[in-house]
Amino acid sequence: AAHDKSNSYLEYIHFYNSEKHKNIMEEQEIENDMEKALSDEQFYIVIQPKFNSVTQKIVGGESLVRWTHPLKGIVSPGIFVKVFEKNGFIIQLDYFVWEETCRLLSKQKQKGKEYVPLSINVSRAHFYGNELMDKLSELVLKYGLETSDLELEITESLCGEDPSIIYAKIRQLQNMGFKIAMDDFGSGYSSLNMLKEMPLDIIKMDLKFLDGEEKKSQLILKSLITMAQAMELKVVVEGVENLPQVEFLAQFKECSLQGYYFSRPVIIGEFEHMLENN
Ligand code: C2E
Ligand code: CA
Ligand code: CA
Repeated sequence: AAHDKSNSYLEYIHFYNSEKHKNIMEEQEIENDMEKALSDEQFYIVIQPKFNSVTQKIVGGESLVRWTHPLKGIVSPGIFVKVFEKNGFIIQLDYFVWEETCRLLSKQKQKGKEYVPLSINVSRAHFYGNELMDKLSELVLKYGLETSDLELEITESLCGEDPSIIYAKIRQLQNMGFKIAMDDFGSGYSSLNMLKEMPLDIIKMDLKFLDGEEKKSQLILKSLITMAQAMELKVVVEGVENLPQVEFLAQFKECSLQGYYFSRPVIIGEFEHMLENN
């Protein structure tokens, strides 16, 4: 038996190393292709609408990036965003996504069509540089938008490193009129602490962090939403996938819901169509 064990352990090591090798290869390929991908317009944005928990009307949307690779097809941001956060390319890519989002908002406003604020993901990398404010105000000006048309989604993990500098930047963004959302609230271990310290307008909770026992999950969710709303924070619940979840969440007024139950992220034309029929 001992022999078997060590054998499978060796197999495991071998498997692990080849998996690791494959990942490094993939990472290398992604890095080789990224610049060309941006200049060849292989990246584009999709929008996932957010719905009011009671009226079920569209009240917002989140911009998410997609990559159509000429050989690999559609590559998921779950793979390449991590790589770009490591090598810094996420800054360029986020600028692209923000600009596309502003372009869409400006088009909707110019046509006098119904429009809703859109959120963009702001990678932590932006908080270590000094371009963030300039870039965002430049875009708002260029596309004739209000700062309140944009919500900035920031992940809480970002706040671990140098909180005072980051909070000062966030406050500056709020003073400019941008709404700040804490993305993936509850997924880290210092969420509650963060809630006390970090300047925020919106918290975004992902239902997948509450998998498991339903009763407990509902209790936690209810307490968190009640607490956030008492703190006058807007609440967005994402990862909403089924009717029982929607029914449970309907008890919370002025909550925004996002997830496959309502809609997957859709291409711009489809999003505009959904807004017209809102
Ligand atoms: P995120 O910001 O938490 O985005 C939500 C993710 O959950 C999206 O995956 C979305 O498609 C997915 N999702 C939406 N509804 C459901 C649902 O009901 N069930 C499940 N299981 N999933 C759902 P996506 O588009 O693959 O993006 C993954 C992550 O990649 C994002 O997580 C975000 O962290 C990052 N990302 C995507 N676009 C950008 C971007 O433009 N800039 C930056 N910095 N990061 C991005
Ligand atoms: Ca997000
Ligand atoms: Ca999220």
